[in-house]
Amino acid sequence: MDVQRFRAAWILPVDGDPIPDGTIEIDASGRIAALHDKVDPRATDLGRVAILPGLVNAHTHLEFSDIESPLEPPEPFTDWIRSVVKNRRGRATNGDDAVRSGLAESIRAGTTLLGEIATNDNSAKLAQTPGPLVVAFFELIGLQSDQAERQMEIALRHLQQPTDSDSGGIIPAISPHAPYSVHPELFVRLVKLATQQRCPLAIHLAETQAELELLDRSTGPFVDLLTEFGVWHDGILPVGGRPLWYLQQMAELQRGLVIHGNYLSDEEVVFLAAHENLTVVYCPRTHAYFRHDSHPWLQLLDRGARVAVGTDSRASNPDLSVWRELCFLRNRHAKVDPRKLLELGTICGARAMGLQEQTGSLTVGKRADMTVVRLPAAGDSNPYSNLLRLENEIAGTLCGGQWAHRTI
Ligand SMILES: [Zn+2]
Repeated sequence: MDVQRFRAAWILPVDGDPIPDGTIEIDASGRIAALHDKVDPRATDLGRVAILPGLVNAHTHLEFSDIESPLEPPEPFTDWIRSVVKNRRGRATNGDDAVRSGLAESIRAGTTLLGEIATNDNSAKLAQTPGPLVVAFFELIGLQSDQAERQMEIALRHLQQPTDSDSGGIIPAISPHAPYSVHPELFVRLVKLATQQRCPLAIHLAETQAELELLDRSTGPFVDLLTEFGVWHDGILPVGGRPLWYLQQMAELQRGLVIHGNYLSDEEVVFLAAHENLTVVYCPRTHAYFRHDSHPWLQLLDRGARVAVGTDSRASNPDLSVWRELCFLRNRHAKVDPRKLLELGTICGARAMGLQEQTGSLTVGKRADMTVVRLPAAGDSNPYSNLLRLENEIAGTLCGGQWAHRTI
């Protein structure tokens, strides 16, 4: 690859001030070599666009990317899970086509790093160059004690894959699915494994009121669901459980992702604020689809906790666009600084997965992972004020300095 230089109406590095009429220089290895506002006749002028760091989708399940529209019904949640399980069981193929189409869709949406919940090792083989970095969180499920050994073996085998985060590709990680599908003892063992291996761990946590009821009293709709699946018996879970217990186990992880966290208590918010290694992944449009109570993301940010953004899957979201998630938040929360929103969709997601030294901002030495967004014709002295709008098209995606998508 030759040295490349691009000029744009705005460059928004995220970790520094916006650069009007900026030029970004990418070296032959696909890393950012310079950012400046000096006119360089060698630069390709991309015109009235903003160059942003590549967007980060901190939580998705690409295996469901062939679903046209979110699965019904959104409520009760346990019925939605029944629909998901039915969809997975009724699949004619091994899901590779869906993963491939989800990756392609993500690239078109400007995403250059994904936190993908993987259910087999195929997503590793499907990663492409140029393409996004994929942190493959292998999904582990085991409520019954006789499932534990097998799940530990699967986790270990997944983590022993070669990792190649510098030249693109897959970074192995694990995801004990949720408190209702993973026994607390297995969860503790998986956390220990992730801590030893220094890999990220993600869990769906505090997602529904029904989950809180199950943990606290071993009652409610999850008991019916788990009985139906043949994995429930009285006393299988200790009573008096809370999401806080799961967070406490995660305290020693190098990186832990709390997926959703829709119903975190004040005490849990305070705990998260005190643990820099933990990030809550808010999936705004999925959250809205399920008509949950308002999400505590602003409270988490106010307290100094870390929040990133994810789309979740097409089983609960019409598409896989982090850009659309950010526009959605901008629309509903006009008072939140749009610069902060862009951070949630870039550097915060990279940090959540431990990749903040490689990507997530336009910083000299990092991978040239970039999203190019068309700007409205009228100029603005503040590039953020009109940035997060649905009509601003993603005109290009560069992964490690190579165009993976380009309409410009
Ligand atoms: Zn999920």
